[in-house]
Amino acid sequence: MAIIDAEAAAYGARLTIDLSAIAENWRRLGAQAPHIPCAAVVKADAYGCGLAEVAPVLWRAGCRTFFVAHASEAIIARSVLPDAVIYVLNGLIPGGGPALIAHDLRPVLGSREELDEWAALGAEAGRPLAAALHVDTGMNRLGLTVSEALALAGDPILARAEIDLLMSHLVSAERPDEAVNRRQCEAFGRVLRAYPGIPGSLANSSGCYLGAGIANDLLRPGYAIFGGNPTPGRPNPMRPVIRLEALIAQVRDVEAGDSAGYNAYWTAAGPRRLATLSVGYADGYPRAASGRGHALVGGVPCPIVGLISMDLIILDVTDAPAARRGEPAILIGDALDVDSVGRAAGTIGYEILTNLGSRYVRHYVETID
Ligand SMILES: *Cc1c(COP(=O)(O)O)cnc(C)c1O
Repeated sequence: MAIIDAEAAAYGARLTIDLSAIAENWRRLGAQAPHIPCAAVVKADAYGCGLAEVAPVLWRAGCRTFFVAHASEAIIARSVLPDAVIYVLNGLIPGGGPALIAHDLRPVLGSREELDEWAALGAEAGRPLAAALHVDTGMNRLGLTVSEALALAGDPILARAEIDLLMSHLVSAERPDEAVNRRQCEAFGRVLRAYPGIPGSLANSSGCYLGAGIANDLLRPGYAIFGGNPTPGRPNPMRPVIRLEALIAQVRDVEAGDSAGYNAYWTAAGPRRLATLSVGYADGYPRAASGRGHALVGGVPCPIVGLISMDLIILDVTDAPAARRGEPAILIGDALDVDSVGRAAGTIGYEILTNLGSRYVRHYVETID
C-alpha cells in the first residue's frame, strides 16, 4: 500500500483497472446468447484500459475473436494473442494490405474495391486470405449497401477473398424501442440468407440485450466489457472496471466573494473549503465537466468548482470532513460510474474511457466479486 501511495504521489492520480471484472463482464455478455460465441471489441487501446494487458485476460476467459479499428492496434493485439482471430474494423486502407498479411489479420472489407484488392493480394500470396464483409444496414458509414450485398451473393470473388464473417452495426442499439433495430435486423437477416454457411454478427454491447433475434452467430461487444452500461436508463448489469483516484494537493478556506480558478468562473457565495486535486484535463478528465462534475471524498459527493485546469481540479469539500492534503478523491468509481461522469461532461461514457490518459499510475488488479 505504501509503495502504491508513493507512486500515486509521484503521478498525482491512480487509475485502477480490474481485470477480473473485465473477464466477468465478457462472460455476462456472452451469457445473453449462450449458444453462440462472444467476441471482444478492443479498439482504442481496449477502450482506454490497455490492450496489451486486457486482451490476454479475455483470451484466458475463452474469447477467441477480437476486433480493433486499425491495423496498428491489431499488430499490438497479435503480439499478445498469437492464436486469436483478429479483425480490423476500418477495413483495407490503400497500402495497408502487406501489414495485415504479415500479422495474419483479417480486414472487415466494406466495398467492392476492397474485396478486389484483398482477393488480388491473396492471389499474389498464393493462398486465399480470410476477411469479413461489412454490410451497411442503416449507419451509412462503412460497408456494402444491402442491395450491393444481395447482388454480390454467390459471386466467385467471395471465395477468392475467403469471406468468413458477415457483419453489420446497429444505429441505436442502446434505445430498444427504436424501430430501426428491427429494420436492421431484418435487412441483415435477408443478407445472411443469401450467403448460406457464412456466420453473421450484428450485436454490439447494447445489442446483446435486444433479444435473441439480434444475436445471429457471434456477439461483438466492446463498451460493456469495460463496465459501461449497455442498458441505459436501467440498472447496469456489468461490474465496474475502472477507478480513478486523485490526491488532494492542498486544502484552503475561502470567503464569500472569493473566486477560484481561471477566469474567476466560480465565486464563493459564503465561506467554503476548497481542495485542489493533482489531476486535470491533460490526464483525460473532461474539461467540459467544469462546474458540473463531482468527486467523492470520504464518500461525500463534492462538486467540481471553477474551470478544470490542465493539471488541477478544484473541489468544494466544505461538507467532506475527510478532505485533507494527501487524501484521495474518487473521480470515477463507486457511485460515480463512467456513464454518470460522461453525462456530467455532456458526453458519453465511451469518450470518458477512451480519453483515459497516460499520466496516471496504472494498477491492474484481479478481484473476486
Ligand atoms: C465499436 C464497435 C463495436 C462495439 O460497440 P460497443 O457499443 O462498444 O459494444 C461493435 N462493432 C463495431 C462495428 C464497432 O465499431
